[in-house]
Amino acid sequence: MRLAVVGLSLEANTFSSVHATIEGMRNRGDIHLGQQITEHYAGSTSTLAGFLDPDVPDGVELVPLVSFRAGAMGTFTADTFAETTREICRSLAGESWDGVLLGLHGAAVAEDVEHADAEIAVRVRATVGPDVPIGVVLDMHANVDQQLVDAVDVLRIYQTNPHIDASRQALECRAGVIAIASGQPRPATVLERLPLVVNILRQGTQDEPMAEILARCAKWESEEGMLDVSVAEGFPYADVEQMGMAVVASHHDDETVARAAAADVAAAIWAARDHLQDSAPSVDDALAAVCVHTGPGPILLLDVGDNVGGGSCGDSTVLLQAAQEQGVGGIAFTLWDPACVRALADQEIGARVTATVGGRSAEQDGTPQTVEAVITGRSDGEFTDSGPTHGGFSRFNVGPTVALRTSIGNAVVVTTHPQGNTSAELLRMVGVEPTEFTAIVGKGVHSPKAGYGRICPTMLMVDTPGVTRASIDQFSYRRRPRPMYPFEPETTYPPHH
Ligand SMILES: [Zn+2]
Repeated sequence: MRLAVVGLSLEANTFSSVHATIEGMRNRGDIHLGQQITEHYAGSTSTLAGFLDPDVPDGVELVPLVSFRAGAMGTFTADTFAETTREICRSLAGESWDGVLLGLHGAAVAEDVEHADAEIAVRVRATVGPDVPIGVVLDMHANVDQQLVDAVDVLRIYQTNPHIDASRQALECRAGVIAIASGQPRPATVLERLPLVVNILRQGTQDEPMAEILARCAKWESEEGMLDVSVAEGFPYADVEQMGMAVVASHHDDETVARAAAADVAAAIWAARDHLQDSAPSVDDALAAVCVHTGPGPILLLDVGDNVGGGSCGDSTVLLQAAQEQGVGGIAFTLWDPACVRALADQEIGARVTATVGGRSAEQDGTPQTVEAVITGRSDGEFTDSGPTHGGFSRFNVGPTVALRTSIGNAVVVTTHPQGNTSAELLRMVGVEPTEFTAIVGKGVHSPKAGYGRICPTMLMVDTPGVTRASIDQFSYRRRPRPMYPFEPETTYPPHH
């Protein structure tokens, strides 16, 4: 039994004008072919690591073909979407497969294709034919549509945020594909979409009400013949007609039971709709909290408006500017700024410099900040983290990196590639020990928590401006479903009642 493994993932923030391109993926080392995929993801807990886990039943051969990972940014350019899907289909064509394992995100959008994930699955289906089982694993931020569900045989969705169960979902997906390839029937899978957005501040799956909703899924999964009941939180930064929360339920052979499970969980989500909304403290309130923080450990400030995992660039200086102006020291910042790294390339460690950092991308409200600082560290930007991290990644490459210490005692770690500060090893790589600071700034909402959880028992989400801001009523939507809660408070569900 030969199973092909392919991947194409993008979380598209349609409010960002920074497109996802082949060149960008190549520069960041996020395109892999054949055995490179196995080597790159080995030891991680990502989707592809799960698909390629060597512990397979006798007679099953895993064949990694091609993987593109664009991360979170704006939409795919039309050329990049055409080229990546063509490469995937070309790698699958001309051979006979017993199954295909396809790693997607679920919130991909291309300039010219709104339902990009569904389109990828449809093209893969057209390539391998109607009888080859296709298994797909989606990120929990997927905006799931019926076309995608119809195009595949097995669907699994991460059920943790931060995402720490990617490889476990991939293993389940693979087992489902092997079962179908071994002669079992295609499961009955139903999709129930809700006209509802869960605010990014309320998406943590350890917290209520998500924890209670997922417990309800688990209860349904214990029913005879039920294979999976999953919640997709959706991705509100993609202004597309499939945007919103959804429930996907799969039963061994009974669509009626699957439909009952999906409807029941959807009703529970709808009942919790107010509890799924939230707002965050302002920048000034967050800095006031830093000033009185006495530990234990640093406080983790989550820069929600500059959430790299949601499509921001990671160079917003809104928090840095406020801290410098208010004289608040003891904070460790990270900023994406390749021009700053290049400008400081000839300076030695210990040199006093006047550096201008961050605020260069058009996608946020900060401006470049000029700081008096000492250069305290440097790195080529490659590091590993063997502890828990968002998405299960263990190897990182943020490009040439320089660490600055401002005159009021803030650390600024400036990287060549955008990153969300999801691992404390990023700071340690350049000699910045996070536990010596009063606060750390994470460029994410949930993603930095997995890596910083043990260091920072206290976390504070901050309502900073940007294309991933928590206050989503500030965006002008054109394509999203209407009515939708909380934008239109009179929204009803189920819609036909
Ligand atoms: Zn996600």
